[in-house]
Amino acid sequence: MSNVTNLTAAIKELKQVLPENAWSENSFDIQPHLQEWRDRWQGSTPLLLTPRSTTQVSQAIRICAKHQIPITTQGGNTGLVGGQIPQGEILVSCKYLNQIREQNKHSITAESGCILQNIQELADKDDRRFPLSLASQGSATIGGLCSTNAGGIHVVRYGSMRDLVVGVETVLADGSIFTSLNSPKKDNTGYNLTPLFLGAEGTLGIITAVKLKLFPKPKYCETLLISIDNLEDALKVLESSKEDFSEELSLIELIPNTALDFVTKHISDCASPFSADSNWYLLLQFESLNDFNSNERLEDYIKNLIEQKTISDAVIAQSLQQTQDLIKLRESISEAQKPEGGSIKHDISVPLQHIPEFINKASAEVKELIPGCRPIPFGHLGDGNIHFNVSQPVDMEKEKYLSHWEAMNCLVHDIVMQYEGSISAEHGIGILKKTELAQRCDPVKYAAMKSIKKALDPTNLMNPRVLF
Ligand SMILES: Cc1cc2nc3c(=O)[nH]c(=O)nc-3n(C[C@H](O)[C@H](O)[C@H](O)COP(=O)(O)OP(=O)(O)OC[C@H]3O[C@@H](n4cnc5c(N)ncnc54)[C@H](O)[C@@H]3O)c2cc1C
Repeated sequence: MSNVTNLTAAIKELKQVLPENAWSENSFDIQPHLQEWRDRWQGSTPLLLTPRSTTQVSQAIRICAKHQIPITTQGGNTGLVGGQIPQGEILVSCKYLNQIREQNKHSITAESGCILQNIQELADKDDRRFPLSLASQGSATIGGLCSTNAGGIHVVRYGSMRDLVVGVETVLADGSIFTSLNSPKKDNTGYNLTPLFLGAEGTLGIITAVKLKLFPKPKYCETLLISIDNLEDALKVLESSKEDFSEELSLIELIPNTALDFVTKHISDCASPFSADSNWYLLLQFESLNDFNSNERLEDYIKNLIEQKTISDAVIAQSLQQTQDLIKLRESISEAQKPEGGSIKHDISVPLQHIPEFINKASAEVKELIPGCRPIPFGHLGDGNIHFNVSQPVDMEKEKYLSHWEAMNCLVHDIVMQYEGSISAEHGIGILKKTELAQRCDPVKYAAMKSIKKALDPTNLMNPRVLF
């Protein structure tokens, strides 16, 4: 049978087996799923599936496997590397797999289409905390976050998605259902398959439900913004805050002055709390379950840093509103870059001690490549994860600037490799970085990943264009 005949037969069978609310051929329903939010990728699909249960996902995948029809899985469509946009495959949207199956003080078992913010709110109502936090949390789904092993601003204390998941339920490429949702805590019966699906970007199966860890809700939380002259001092602040506050440090984000400039210029209700500019800023948050005289301790800590000339100024939020205002300065950086024209992005990590060298070297080299471009290195300092975004020169055509995307990526990633860092710290590989993955990945790891893919999806039906 030809592929077209296979596809026609598969679609016919899917429409017969699944209820009418679990599929659509209507372009009005399909179109929003085909467009990526920054307009980098435009997709196409012959059929949108919107299953309401794991059984329906399994039925659908069995049919696709029988007819050898590839599928692409989508959650909230906030991914930044293009893996969720189908290019002719059947599209499985998990958005209606959105039930909470169980919740207690220690965990919450949520279906993969649940939105992160709803999970945070559910935990909060029960006086608990689900700590994953990122700017896309109002749209990103648990399945997408698991599949990309998402990070965000609290990794320094709580880890990324891999650290927050204790069990998964996944429909494999043949339609069978793997589950570790109720596995005992101690279980040494061979390979641990749960982490395999976290960060697999949908290439090994469709995650349908996840058991997430919940944490005690902090009773005290202090947020502050510090201004500093150089990156070496930023590392000193990171070290001393870990030493003085240990586990209480829950966020430490780097903000360059150019980014603060963009944010205060382009985003409403954003103002710098400082009267004088500085080269860099650090946003910090400390959380505690106990009253640790937080304000006094912080004031002493800051006084010491100022005396040692490690920092030049600091503000501590005195209300929830002030806390939100400080966080907004950091969370608005990507949005504030848009009115400044094209931005070439890198999501990299390097060992902490190399961050100053990396940022200085990469900034100098991109400016040599494109004179006038404006590096905006910001993000998760505590994890060595820098979003090395580079805004275009003010007087350059956007399209012309963006035509340098690959050359700049190559240059920056070469520097990352010199420091034994990662070319994708938290956003994944998708279709955006798969060529580079093939070139730069440790060959032993790459071959092992391909073997795993071949074992679990021998005919490459699950997200066939992603990763490899
Ligand atoms: C403004 C903004 C800020 C962001 N900040 C951060 C950040 O700080 N840290 C960070 O890590 N990421 C960040 N991201 C990236 C993004 O939010 C994450 O990649 C998110 O994890 C994707 O979730 P999603 O539900 O939107 O998945 P989608 O975009 O729909 O899909 C992402 C990938 O996961 C696969 N997938 C989706 N659902 C499933 C499933 N149920 N089973 C199997 N595979 C599936 C898709 O095929 C695709 O490959 C940001 C994005 C935006 C737009």
